[in-house]
Amino acid sequence: MPTRKPLIAGNWKMNGFQGDGVALAKALAEYVAKGGTASFEMLICPPFTLISRIGEVLAGGVIALGGQDCHPRAKGAHTGDVAASMLADLGCRYVIVGHSERRADHGENDTLVAAKAAAAQGAKLCPIVCVGESENERDAGRTLDVVGRQIAAAVPPGSTAASLVIAYEPVWAIGSGRTPTTPEVAEVHGRIRELLAAKIGGAEAEKVRILYGGSMKPGNAAELLALENVDGGLVGGASLVAGDFWAIARAAQAAKT
Ligand code: PEP
Repeated sequence: MPTRKPLIAGNWKMNGFQGDGVALAKALAEYVAKGGTASFEMLICPPFTLISRIGEVLAGGVIALGGQDCHPRAKGAHTGDVAASMLADLGCRYVIVGHSERRADHGENDTLVAAKAAAAQGAKLCPIVCVGESENERDAGRTLDVVGRQIAAAVPPGSTAASLVIAYEPVWAIGSGRTPTTPEVAEVHGRIRELLAAKIGGAEAEKVRILYGGSMKPGNAAELLALENVDGGLVGGASLVAGDFWAIARAAQAAKT
C-alpha cells in the first residue's frame, strides 16, 4: 500500500489582519519547531492580503503556504482576481479551488473549477480541489452521485498525485459543528479513490491525498484521520487557533504512524 503523507491544511478564509495573522503563523511555527512535522505536512492558506507577510514569517521553515483561489487565466484584464503564477511568485505551493463558499458566493461551477485547477498545475502549484454535497443532496441519497459528478468534471485530465489533492467537504458540515459519521466519510473517500482510478489510473490514484473538511476539530480529528482513505484535513475555524490546529496535526501523526 503506498504511503500518503497526511496534509493538514488551514483555510483562514476572510480572516486576519497583519497583527493577528502574523501572531498566528508565528505560534504555529513555534509548535512545529518544537514538535516537528516529519510524518505530516502542514499548510496554511491565508487571505490574499496576508500571503506575502505570512510568507516572510514562514520563510526557511517547513510550513507550506497556499492561496484560497486563483483565476483560470494566466494574466490580463480581470480586475480583483489573482493568477496562479502570482501565488507561486509569493512562494505558494498549493491553492484551494472550488471551495463551496466560492461556488455559493461567486456561482463557480465544475467547468470553472477544472480550469482553475489546470491553471494552478500550469503554474506548478498543487490545486486542492473541493467537492461535497449539500444537505438536501445528502438527504435525497444523492451524495455519491454529486461527488462523482464533481470529480469527473473538476479534476483535470493528466493530474498526478504530485499535482492534485482532493478535499471532500460536505457543504452542510462546513462551519456547522456537524460531521458525517465515520462510515459515511469512509464510503465517500473510498468512492473518490475509485473515481480517480478511472480518471487518472489506479497506480496514481492510490497516491493522491484525499482530505476531509467540515468542522474538523481536536475532538473529532483522531477518529476521522484514522480512516484508511482520509489523508489529512482541510480545516477552517480550528485553523485560526494555533493550539487546535496543532492538535489536529498531532492527531494525523498519531493516526498514520
Ligand atoms: C473549510 O472552510 O474548508 C472548512 C472545513 O471549515 P470548518 O473547518 O470551519 O468547517
